[in-house]
Amino acid sequence: MSNEPSGIVEEFLALKADTDAEVLAMQCGDFYEFFADDAELVADELDLKVSQKSSHGSSYPMAGVPLAELTPYLKALVERGYRVAVADQYETDGGDLRRRVERVVSPGTVVDPDDADARWLCAVEFGGGQYGVAFADVTTGRFHAAAVDDAAAVRAELHRFAPVEVLPGPGVRGGGTAANGDDDLIAAVRDGTDARLTLHDAEAFAPGRARHRLREQFGAETLDAVGLDADAAVGAAGAVLHYVDETGAGVLASMTRLGTLDPDGRVSLDATTQRNLELVETMQGGRDGTLLDTVDHTETAAGSRLLREWITRPVRDRDELARRHDAVEAFAAAALARDRLLDALDGTADLERLAARASSGSAGPRDLAAVRDALGRLPALASAIDGTELADSPVADVLARPDQSAARRLHDELDAALVDEPPGSVGDGGVIARGYDDELDELVAEYEEASEWLDTLADRVKRQYGLSHVTVDRNTTDGYYVQVGRSVADDVPEHFREIKTLKNSKRFVTDDLEERERTVLRLEESRGDRERELVDDLRGRVADDAELLQDVGRTLAELDALASLAEHAAGNDWVRPSFTDGDVLEIDAGRHPVVERTTDFVPNDLRLSRDRGFLVVTGPNMSGKSTYMRQCALISLLAQAGSFVPADAATLPLVDGIYTRVGALDELAQGRSTFMVEMQELSNILHSATADSLVILDEVGRGTATYDGISIAWAATEYLHNEVRAKTLFATHYHELTSLAEHLPRVANVHVAVDGDPDSSRADGEESGDGDDVTFLRRVREGPTDRSYGVHVADLAGVPGPVVDRAGEVLDRLRAEKAIEARGAGGAGDADHADGEGGGTRTRQAVFDLSAGEFVDADADGDAAAGDAATATTETTGTAERTDAAETTAATAPEPAAAESTDGGDGSVVDPEAAAVLDALRDTDVAETPPVELMAKVQEWQEQLEESGE
Ligand code: ADP
Repeated sequence: MSNEPSGIVEEFLALKADTDAEVLAMQCGDFYEFFADDAELVADELDLKVSQKSSHGSSYPMAGVPLAELTPYLKALVERGYRVAVADQYETDGGDLRRRVERVVSPGTVVDPDDADARWLCAVEFGGGQYGVAFADVTTGRFHAAAVDDAAAVRAELHRFAPVEVLPGPGVRGGGTAANGDDDLIAAVRDGTDARLTLHDAEAFAPGRARHRLREQFGAETLDAVGLDADAAVGAAGAVLHYVDETGAGVLASMTRLGTLDPDGRVSLDATTQRNLELVETMQGGRDGTLLDTVDHTETAAGSRLLREWITRPVRDRDELARRHDAVEAFAAAALARDRLLDALDGTADLERLAARASSGSAGPRDLAAVRDALGRLPALASAIDGTELADSPVADVLARPDQSAARRLHDELDAALVDEPPGSVGDGGVIARGYDDELDELVAEYEEASEWLDTLADRVKRQYGLSHVTVDRNTTDGYYVQVGRSVADDVPEHFREIKTLKNSKRFVTDDLEERERTVLRLEESRGDRERELVDDLRGRVADDAELLQDVGRTLAELDALASLAEHAAGNDWVRPSFTDGDVLEIDAGRHPVVERTTDFVPNDLRLSRDRGFLVVTGPNMSGKSTYMRQCALISLLAQAGSFVPADAATLPLVDGIYTRVGALDELAQGRSTFMVEMQELSNILHSATADSLVILDEVGRGTATYDGISIAWAATEYLHNEVRAKTLFATHYHELTSLAEHLPRVANVHVAVDGDPDSSRADGEESGDGDDVTFLRRVREGPTDRSYGVHVADLAGVPGPVVDRAGEVLDRLRAEKAIEARGAGGAGDADHADGEGGGTRTRQAVFDLSAGEFVDADADGDAAAGDAATATTETTGTAERTDAAETTAATAPEPAAAESTDGGDGSVVDPEAAAVLDALRDTDVAETPPVELMAKVQEWQEQLEESGE
């Protein structure tokens, strides 16, 4: 650059070069200034005015905000994802003014955000074959770290915590020098969260240093006590601490406890499932209409945060669940006491947050008063439950948990120290109560005496000198003065010295007045200093009790969350679930917790048992299959969050995980291949689910051609049924799959009835296929449905009549073909029919024999093989083994494309590609092949056949 900056701009640019923050705010007297590019940036983002600062012949853009107004601008920049360094001014020993960066504010290190949501700062590291994740909320001091096995688990945690800032460690950064770059994970952070990615100092992740840091922060024994020893987890946790420390937020002291993520005690919920079930965010991204939104009647921000945690982190601990259910039950039965308790909670401050603010030094007099008031609620809460049903419930235990005498002590100290309603700032008096501090009291007494003298001076002057129109006042330029009306100004005594003449009056001072003025100013300063000292002490005192505040805060939050669940249960006729060991799951008249709020909901039962662990759910589109399955998952989840559930009765197994694979709309929107996503999700479920898991599959295999779709669905079913043995609900539009029940002992069929079903009240026999109205009954019944009602739905949706009619015809025709396949009837007529429209050498897919659950072997049965061959092989061919089939089809078959074909040895001609596919098919053991592999094979075969058919 030819324009060398100099002076203040030079200092700015030098500081900027030294920080990795994107923006620098530098104090210059009473302003924070931004220069050069930063000025342009903040002007753009925050609508600040840019002026020009010339310095040594160059001109630089400059923007500034007054000192006191920096905070809102900082927050706005951080909300937009910037990291902002703040350089404050200081005086050197030589008396020069210099600046240095005192703190860096980033999304994860804003101590006093405007909203009440947790602001998780996260670090992820990979090492030793494991991932380590750590989450810290600087606004409350909460801290969690753990090692997890795979990237999917990391994604699940990211979804659960929804961090605002993520620090990827060197092991996951990818590219560069990192050996284990995990671009997928980084992409998941980028696409799947709103978090800002910050590349923090790689050395902060080094396990040795990190371990040392953690020991210093949480105590030497803690790491062992919570079992945090994996290098990746230690590295991530240490890096978070290092980052918080480096950015100068000053809140480390409020991070008093190292929590784990306790994956063993929790219900596993992957990111997809959390999204599919719309727990805290809808598919569209809002909060309205989520499960949390529905059950959240909390009075406090901390209560709402806790409820969110319960819902995204259901537990498996029977005792803990019994405790929560007991409390909800007690609260639900005690409406009056519940109201009183909620009243007492209403408006209580967020103690966890205040603890963090006290630690960071940013808590002001009003914050301290809020701590006092919140602690002061404890007795009111106790009396709200005393003598009520709640007294014998876990509610009383929750309330008794924090150290009551410590809480009382701190409350009493704050109460003695602070006035009832202190002003927002310290130093102008009025914060500390009388009688708390002798020194301050004395200063105040002297000050008041001096003020009294000044207040009464005007009267004395009037009386003594017989003057009217006299006032005593003070301003910044003149200090204290006596102001006398013009008409009597000449009558003032000798010792009055005139200092100013105004239009209608004159101002005077006297030696006495000046002396009093000095006294008052001195006293004001001493009083302010003393008040600040006392407030600092109180703040320190509160910070020392950060852990107590976190305990009390947690207690208030828990009471709030429990009462909120009870409120919802009582208002919506929810019941307490009970848990069984074993496989029994019985829900009587279950409802969908969210949909029931806005619809005249039709309740449905669900029964699973040892011999009936897998339900195939069929029914037309829009009949309510998804809703039914989701409601079952949500009931199970609510139960293990500690809530009551929307049903008349529910007996549930304790599940270790809930897995869902539902519709693919959102993935489509993200531009990812639907089928690939579907298969990844399926693969994850097949790997992760256990016999104690609940699996919800909505339409597997839809993203690909019918036959591989069916085969994948089939194979996945077998695997879930035979190997995983998970409790499964599987909705499918392949009604072919309903025959699974005949082959697999634990599979049963249910269907969602529509009017027109043979077993519905208005059974009217056959469906006409021409778009008759369908009335959805939303009633789940035993047994399969044998129809797909897509054409009806198309009609309902307003698809033009001719299209619906034509679709009906096509459907009838397809059914006719299927009937032929099912009978296994061969013959020239059928074969003719089958290829009638395709003509020529059109390749047809092999047929999946639905009753056998495998691809047909033509040798098995001559008669069946004839039919199979007509559809199972290229029309013009038969394989060597398929002699009889070839004979029946050959009659109507067009000439083969000779050049690409070989003689099958029996007069028929086989395309070598097709033959290879058929061989591979025959050699494949469907029962033994993992579904995903099977999927890949089918796709490969299909491509080969397509190529050969071209
Ligand atoms: P499917 O999965 O069969 O296509 P959905 O579960 O998406 O059908 O349900 C279709 C519509 O029917 C949704 O708008 C849903 O709110 C409503 N619905 C589903 N089940 C019920 C029920 N039991 N009672 C009332 N409305 C229901």
